[in-house]
This record gives sequence, structure tokens and C-alpha cells, in this order.
Amino acid sequence: MKEEEAVTLSTRILLPFSYSVGLTASRFFIELRDNKRIMGTKCPKCVRVLVPPRRYCGECLAEVDEWVDVGDKGTLVAYTIMHKASPNLPKKPPFAYGVIKLDGADTNIVHILGEVDLNKINPGMRVQAVFKDKREGSILDIDHFKPL
Ligand SMILES: [Zn+2]
Repeated sequence: MKEEEAVTLSTRILLPFSYSVGLTASRFFIELRDNKRIMGTKCPKCVRVLVPPRRYCGECLAEVDEWVDVGDKGTLVAYTIMHKASPNLPKKPPFAYGVIKLDGADTNIVHILGEVDLNKINPGMRVQAVFKDKREGSILDIDHFKPL
């Protein structure tokens, strides 16, 4: 007699949905949308500036409620180049994602690198946020970061 066999199939679903991002992320997105300003929160205990802003510091668990403008310029820490198309990507490949440390922040964000030769991207290069003309309150209100 044959043992029971469990079959596993892999598939994909695209499931549109909406959710509340909470008060901290709402303020972050509203600043991007209305003022083209990238804001972080400063931990009163370890003094790190967190971007994206967080209500509680992940290192010391202190409540964080001081807001600071971290500026629109930063340094590229790392990057990867996307070659394969996917319906979830915000741009058509090939394009690059960068890990960026904004000048006024102690944490990094990941965003699209644009206006750049994909063969000439280097960690350490200076970058600046380029905002969309029409913004709607999301991280993609920053269209990309361009080299300085
Ligand atoms: Zn802290």
C-alpha cells in the first residue's frame, strides 16, 4: 500500500487592498505629499534619528515623538539592479534600488535610483531625492534618488 502523499502547488495572486498606516507613517507621508519634506523621529534615549519614522525605537524601545527634517540628500550605502519584470515593481526593469542613508538620519531607507547609468553606481555616491509633481501621500511621492 502506498503512503499518503500531500501535493503542494505554487501559484501567485494579486490582491488589491487598503489599510491604515497609523499616525506616525501618516505624518511621514503627509510631509512628503504637502511639503516635499523627508521627516524622521529622534529617540530621546539613544538620540538616533529614525527614517522612516517610528513611534518606538527598535534599539532601546523608548517612545519617540520628536520630529526632525532629515533633508533630501544622502549617501548611497548599497544597491541592487532589478532585471526581471514583475507586476509589483514600481518601474520597468532594468532599474536600481539603493539603500540610502539620508544626511540627517541614523537609519537607511530603500528607494529607486534614477537619472543614473546603471554601470556607474557606486556605494558612497551622493544622492538627492526627486519628488513627483503630483503627490498622493506615499513613499513613491519621491520618484527616485538621483546622483549629485
Ligand atoms: Zn533609542
